[in-house]
Amino acid sequence: MSETTSHPAIDLLKTLVERPSVTPEDAGCQDLMIERLSALGFECETMQFGDVTNLWARYGNDGPVMCFAGHTDVVPAGHLDRWETDPFKPTEIGDELYGRGTADMKSGLAAMIVAIERFLENRPAIDGSIALLITSDEEGPARDGTLKVVETLKARGEHIDWCVIGEPSSSERFGDVVRIGRRGSLSGMLTVHGVQGHVAYPQLADNPIRRFAPVLDELHKIKWDDGNEHFPPTSFQVVQLNAGIGAPNVTPPELTARFNFRYSTEWTHEQLKTRVAEIFDHHDIDYTLNWHLSGEPFLTMPGALTDAVCESLDEIAGITPELSTGGGTSDGRFISPMGADVVELGPINASIHKVNEHVRLADVETLTSVYQRIMEKLLLRHPA
Ligand SMILES: [Zn+2]
Repeated sequence: MSETTSHPAIDLLKTLVERPSVTPEDAGCQDLMIERLSALGFECETMQFGDVTNLWARYGNDGPVMCFAGHTDVVPAGHLDRWETDPFKPTEIGDELYGRGTADMKSGLAAMIVAIERFLENRPAIDGSIALLITSDEEGPARDGTLKVVETLKARGEHIDWCVIGEPSSSERFGDVVRIGRRGSLSGMLTVHGVQGHVAYPQLADNPIRRFAPVLDELHKIKWDDGNEHFPPTSFQVVQLNAGIGAPNVTPPELTARFNFRYSTEWTHEQLKTRVAEIFDHHDIDYTLNWHLSGEPFLTMPGALTDAVCESLDEIAGITPELSTGGGTSDGRFISPMGADVVELGPINASIHKVNEHVRLADVETLTSVYQRIMEKLLLRHPA
């Protein structure tokens, strides 16, 4: 029998990985968390929206509220024959644990639970409340998850002051990157309307490719902004472009395109839409443009939360993190507009969403200690 590592967070992580919670399934992960949190005196509330299971749990009635957030759902395993292990049978190889969700983000969940258990073990006097906001719809459409829970909380007048999301933020080494914000993401779905015709008689047709080409050129040439202290410059990318009916002698009736802005806090989505409409309106073009906003950019300014996170990482892991706004979107985009400061701190993300996803066992232990220290810094009552 191979040796296995024992640590309460690693034990819990293994139990979570065994539950095949492929999005939007929760597969009983939240029940497991509820059991542990209820034993500590948390009020646990399951919020079911459609086929998505969410959990809002709270300990204490006063502010400030420090909330851990995350998701129990995982992406599908992918090609099973390319896995070295069964993705839903957590397996230790060397100093790592393999399995779907080990890094994204069941380590974060396990570390939160055990950190809270340890923090509350001796019933310390605390100023404020501890909360958890957990969804099973982060890897999916993200419509019935954190967004809906936040709407429910806002309608009740509940507030979050500080939020730590357990997403895998680290790059090369545990704790080297903490996310303090994310760029906004705005997608455009464009149709340019033309008139199909014989290629030899262009005067009788209206070629949408010819109409769109100068607009696209202008969109590509614009320098949207220079970015700012916290964000890289806004980027415009075309991800899809289609036209043509397949015959070499026919000009197409329409052109469709999809594009995406990853944008900094120099813009709001309304301003970007207005600017794009202005550009189209300078050209002679008949078009329909629909937009999808995935999330406005958000940024957590330096303050009590970032200080607590950086000091804890320094004291426990001996590392000073880079505070970054890189990467894709996360559920922080829904929590930040509540007026909460939001950071993301979790294990190394190199293997997430891939086959053979894994986490370093030692990092799970360190993450647990860091989460505990953050709570001590933010919530422990200091004698006056
Ligand atoms: Zn994730």
